[in-house]
Amino acid sequence: MSATQPGLCASCEQARVIRGARSQFWMCRLAESDPRFARYPRLPVITCSGHTPGEPERARDT
Ligand code: SF4
Repeated sequence: MSATQPGLCASCEQARVIRGARSQFWMCRLAESDPRFARYPRLPVITCSGHTPGEPERARDT
């Protein structure tokens, strides 16, 4: 399995990464309040007006 290359989302505190047993999904939390952002952004994200430097929220898919 190749690693997902999230681009800017990896250094954005608006991101939520959900890890499952065999995959991981990157979500953009800005999408909850701003329709300009995709809930599941197309990766890697190269440019993004919402990028907020910080740590992504990490969650586990149970
Ligand atoms: S704001 Fe941009 S960089 Fe941040 S999580 Fe959303 S899509 Fe990724």
